[in-house]
Amino acid sequence: MELASAPADLGLDPDRFPETVRVGLRLAPLGDGWLAHLDVDTRVHRVCDRCLADVVLDLHEQERCLVLPESQRPGEDDEERVLLFEPDQEEVDMGPVVREALLLSQPEYFLCREDCKGLCPVCGEDRNQNECGCRPPAPGSPFGALAGLRDPETTN
Ligand SMILES: [Zn+2]
Ligand SMILES: [Zn+2]
Repeated sequence: MELASAPADLGLDPDRFPETVRVGLRLAPLGDGWLAHLDVDTRVHRVCDRCLADVVLDLHEQERCLVLPESQRPGEDDEERVLLFEPDQEEVDMGPVVREALLLSQPEYFLCREDCKGLCPVCGEDRNQNECGCRPPAPGSPFGALAGLRDPETTN
């Protein structure tokens, strides 16, 4: 089964998730319910926390959860994700599972690449693109002496 959802319908930030979320769903019978496997595909738009570059990433997340009748609620210490449904319920909303899979896949601190050099603190130049040649820190800063120690040109 292939489903498509608008990110806003899933409660996702549309700036970060502006594209359709596609969900492949496979259900295997399990007791009076199902074991659901979800393949979630979308793209995430983020900004590098160091150089502020826009980055678009393809996301492919896999998630599984149990879909069980209310009467078969598992014990508290069961680690599986569970969606419960009432006997007369006609639809089970998989949205929260999809949303959580996408949010948990997001790192808190995001870089466009491991070795991103970030922006120059003096002139704002993107140092991945261009070595601006600025010499932080400015004279008089408490770190000036340290910078001098590190830079052979200023230690003679
Ligand atoms: Zn970056
Ligand atoms: Zn600079």
